[in-house]
Amino acid sequence: MQTCLVTGGAGFIGSWLCEDLLERGYRVVCVDNFITGTKDNVAGLIKNENFSLIEHDVSKALGAEKTGKIDHIFHLASPASPVDYQKLPIKTMLANSFGTYHMLNLVREKNARFLLASTSEVYGNPEQHPQKEIYFGHVNPIGLRSCYDESKRFAEALTMSFCRIHKMDVRIARIFNCFGPKMRKNDGRVVPNFIMQVLRSEPITVYGDGKQTRSFCYISDMVDALEKLMFTDGLSGGVFNIGDPNETSILHLAKIVKDLTKSNSEIVFKPLPSDDPVRRRPDISKAKRILNWEPKIGLEEGLKETIQYFKTR
Ligand code: NAD
Ligand code: UDP
Repeated sequence: MQTCLVTGGAGFIGSWLCEDLLERGYRVVCVDNFITGTKDNVAGLIKNENFSLIEHDVSKALGAEKTGKIDHIFHLASPASPVDYQKLPIKTMLANSFGTYHMLNLVREKNARFLLASTSEVYGNPEQHPQKEIYFGHVNPIGLRSCYDESKRFAEALTMSFCRIHKMDVRIARIFNCFGPKMRKNDGRVVPNFIMQVLRSEPITVYGDGKQTRSFCYISDMVDALEKLMFTDGLSGGVFNIGDPNETSILHLAKIVKDLTKSNSEIVFKPLPSDDPVRRRPDISKAKRILNWEPKIGLEEGLKETIQYFKTR
């Protein structure tokens, strides 16, 4: 039986990934310090004898003796919501710098394979549209988002350096906006915000004029892509955009959420946070061609599932 270690495994994407890996017959070691994730997300997995949970801050070394045999490491540990990482800028930088360094050392020691959860934020406020993997990005190195953007860029550079110097098997997923059940209802990201606002009959807060765009990928498609990227042989050093290429303005998203919930909430406009990217849409032709992957769940279908989930919170 092969073993996957998932850092950030109690977070939104990580907890879905842990569950799916167990279903696929892997042993799973989840490493998390619950700074933005919760034990609740993995409560259903604790009784599974192939699942273990290590409470640990990845910015400190995790002794190789703590984990047993490891074949694959998915490194997801990092605050991801702009509200979270702007509250925790130094911890975010440490998770992505020291955390990535310690995980790469563990990969080396265990002779394992590594996947870094990077982000579309490495492209910053992009001047090329849609974004291809060969684009170097347009990032403000000292702005409010820089703790996240620049530490993910550092994590990518460190990952590639370990790959080149130590001939290690690594892959980088540049994840674009992902959504679904198990997001924290108060994590401040746009999907939980809008859904909780309509469910509480509060105004829907659109920042700026709402013309900025994002491309939203449903969580089950994301997990499928991350697994394909990790488990496909011969891709070492590969960088892949993972996301849904359908682009939506934030104002349109507000209208869809309103329609799906038959809500009377009014839409109110609030100031746009600084350095908020104007447009974001992945070019996923590489993932389509090499991983034979593309999203299957559309925005409305995914939102229906997510609304159902938040109704029970
Ligand atoms: P999340 O906040 O729900 O999950 C992150 C998890 O990492 C949490 O459980 C948190 O407690 C844990 N964590 C953070 N710092 C840690 C540390 N120092 N030690 C141990 N655990 C730590 O976020 P998410 O949306 O699930 O994102 C997961 C990963 O995917 C992140 O690396 C994020 O940058 C990346 N990503 C996510 C999105 C998205 O839309 N969800 C987009 C781009 C990139
Ligand atoms: N946003 C918004 N209202 C909210 C939360 C977010 O209009 O209540 C906007 C935000 O300004 C950004 C987009 O929605 O343009 C996506 O924000 P999110 O925080 O989900 O993630 P980002 O893509 O910025 O990392």
